[in-house]
Amino acid sequence: MAITIKQLLKKIEETNPKIDLDLVRLAYEYAKEAHQDQKRLSGEPYLVHPMATAYQLAELGLDQSTIIAALLHDIPEDTKFTLADIKKDFGQEITFLVKGVTSLGKLKYRGMDRYVENLRRMFVAMAKDIRVILIRICDRIHNLSTLEYLPPEKAKRIALESIEIYAKIANRLGMGEIKGVIEDLAFPYVYPQEYQWMIKKFKPHYDKMELYSKKMQKGINRLLKDNKIEYFSIHARAKHLYSLYQKLLHYNKDIQQIYDLVALRIVTDKILDCYQILGLIHAQYKPMPGRLKDYIAQPKPNGYQSLHTTVFGGDGQISEIQIRTKDMHEEAEYGIAAHWQYKEEGRLSEIDRKKYNWVQKILDLQKISDDQNQYLKSLKLDIFQNYIFVFTPKGEVIELPEGATPLDFAYMIHSEIGDHCSGAKVNNKIVSLAYPLMSGDVVEVFTNAKKKPSLDWLEIAKTDHAKHKIKYFFNRKRNKEVKKLTG
Ligand code: MN
Repeated sequence: MAITIKQLLKKIEETNPKIDLDLVRLAYEYAKEAHQDQKRLSGEPYLVHPMATAYQLAELGLDQSTIIAALLHDIPEDTKFTLADIKKDFGQEITFLVKGVTSLGKLKYRGMDRYVENLRRMFVAMAKDIRVILIRICDRIHNLSTLEYLPPEKAKRIALESIEIYAKIANRLGMGEIKGVIEDLAFPYVYPQEYQWMIKKFKPHYDKMELYSKKMQKGINRLLKDNKIEYFSIHARAKHLYSLYQKLLHYNKDIQQIYDLVALRIVTDKILDCYQILGLIHAQYKPMPGRLKDYIAQPKPNGYQSLHTTVFGGDGQISEIQIRTKDMHEEAEYGIAAHWQYKEEGRLSEIDRKKYNWVQKILDLQKISDDQNQYLKSLKLDIFQNYIFVFTPKGEVIELPEGATPLDFAYMIHSEIGDHCSGAKVNNKIVSLAYPLMSGDVVEVFTNAKKKPSLDWLEIAKTDHAKHKIKYFFNRKRNKEVKKLTG
């Protein structure tokens, strides 16, 4: 649904009352005129896109320059108006942000170069001003929500890049909610079969849990009011689908044992209230042994704070409950973006800058090393994980995590090649499927139509990607067998 200027101004008033609404309206008119003849692939007026981007940033409570730059962000690239025009009308700071977003735009590189260059540009922009990345992330969220209008190949590439780069950067900036939103939008395009499987298998369970949580929410609401807790709010919070999928794959878990599928989140005023609320809940509902986590006294390494407990409700149901202060909540959901709320200038405080100085460190690494591979390696070590690069016999670069095997390589090429992989050669020598690959290896895999995955492949494969493909094969096989037996 298209955001109207009225909705945008209302949201801004709510989240950042210091912003000059007249100036926002001016930028809106400006963008409207600049994009007047353009349409999105969806057929909607182009203006829908900058409006959606600005609205998302307003929701995060960002400052005036960021929201205005978001409204103007596609003007220099796509219309007759230039950066110089924007500078004349909106000044230096906004022009700087628009220019930063534009420079992240088109990449002429392909393959690994494209990936490295993309990352490098993100970090250059981030070190100059993190707001550029925040605009770019919100721009991407709207583009992801309209992927259905793109050719499937392109949609998949954008979706994959969003999970690989954008979600990870959002996560690193502490924006947990935004990370979840990006992944859930990209999920159906990157892993369509797995997405369908999740929906079919887990939706009914999910709905049941949600219903149950709502009931529990009423009970706790009454409990806290009766005990004169003054300031609190309770929400039932469903886990993001992609992160649930990852959890299921990673822990090979039964959905019945994932208690935070739908968690109840209680947000209150002071730290002491958190402990008091916890005490009241434990007095009323029996806690599950070993599930109480005090991340307030002992924050997670990324700074996350909350109390977590899992309790037995009335009718044998089990629920996770998270209790935190408002500050902890905003930090957990919006990370770095939360730090702009109610601030005069779009500048980070000294403390925030210290917290995010890893961005500068990553850039410094690049200055030390001219070698792109080396740079990428260090970069991933910090943000993602350690990767190796191997080659197909045709010289294409395939990127794999350290310790990956020819089987991972086969699945990376195509799931059909993985499923029928019968052997491998590394640097022209025959090796086993479990052979640990090294950067620079030339890898060739052989297939045989009769070959099928075996259970020991789950040990041989090191990447999540290959593991889910193998598990997916066995799930499908089991379902077929069950059907034969029952049908
Ligand atoms: Mn855009």
